[in-house]
Amino acid sequence: MQVVICGLTIPIVLRSEKALKNDLGLFDSEKEQIELLRRMDIKIRRKTLIHECFHAFLFITGYNELLQDISPNAEEAMTRAFEQAFNDLFVFDDDVERWIRGDI
Ligand SMILES: [Zn+2]
Repeated sequence: MQVVICGLTIPIVLRSEKALKNDLGLFDSEKEQIELLRRMDIKIRRKTLIHECFHAFLFITGYNELLQDISPNAEEAMTRAFEQAFNDLFVFDDDVERWIRGDI
């Protein structure tokens, strides 16, 4: 699966707990890909994907650099706030929503 953020296609790769070091997901800025835990509740998968999409957005736009100047924790705090505030408003295309539900 993949998402398009600011015109950039970002692959989504499913990984094991071991590979993610017990995290639910991450945005790998070197590979420009999102990695998600393979086995996850659907609601948590969706929320985690939103979270990682926001990290990708901050990287693509360069805002991650500005946030780094504020504090090493600023990006994560802003990303969590975004994830909480916009979870129900965030829209993925139908293919991604079906993929999140495990239908494809
Ligand atoms: Zn994060």
